[in-house]
Amino acid sequence: MTRIASHRGGTLEFGDSTPTGFRATSRLPLDEVEFDVHPTADGAIMVHHDPTLDRTTDTKGEIRQLAEAEVRAARIDYSRGESPISLAELCAIYATSDVDFRCEIKPGVGGRAYDDFVPRVVAELDRHGMLERTVFSSFLIRSMDELGRATTRPRLWLVSPPVLIQLGIHAVVELARAHGIPEIGVNIDHADRALMEIVAGAGLEFGCWAAHDSAQITKALTLGVKVFTTDRPSLAIDLRNDFHGGMA
Ligand code: FE
Repeated sequence: MTRIASHRGGTLEFGDSTPTGFRATSRLPLDEVEFDVHPTADGAIMVHHDPTLDRTTDTKGEIRQLAEAEVRAARIDYSRGESPISLAELCAIYATSDVDFRCEIKPGVGGRAYDDFVPRVVAELDRHGMLERTVFSSFLIRSMDELGRATTRPRLWLVSPPVLIQLGIHAVVELARAHGIPEIGVNIDHADRALMEIVAGAGLEFGCWAAHDSAQITKALTLGVKVFTTDRPSLAIDLRNDFHGGMA
């Protein structure tokens, strides 16, 4: 069955990377919660999408340059007055959940990977008993390589539309194989049966991201991709139930 990953805790249902969204996702009948991590100036690991607080909270600043307490003082837009949480707190929410982690290693401002960050994320997940329930993702080949050195857990390369268009799927597949990457994910709007067959033919697993509306979710289910991320987890669950009910 195609796996559903609640993107940033279900952004369109609960706000972007909110505690409420993460708690709600932990109780939903789906497979994974997707989230992004960034380091603070004083050594904490915070769960937030952007490298800055500017776009999605009432506060400005680059997480890497802020203290944990400053990040925690920010209020997330469209949340219940909530603040970003740490990776440790996210682990606590999911300790007793059936939903597993899909942890995205984000770059900092300017799109460059944080130095020495990946081993710290892996260690933190291990310390809180979640590493064996985590799949990693990143758009950055450098982060893929660092993950490969830091853990044997599964990792998937998020292939952005410009990279997919500029390289072409055959070069993407070759790059993935050259770096020992077992799985790729593409934007759902760039997925089709032919592309999927090329990826599968190379022995790679295939998923999609950004399947947010009914048409996009139905497309992912119909293609039968391994996994997709969605900002609307409740809608995805309903459509997956309908899809399998209809197939029976
Ligand atoms: Fe992400």
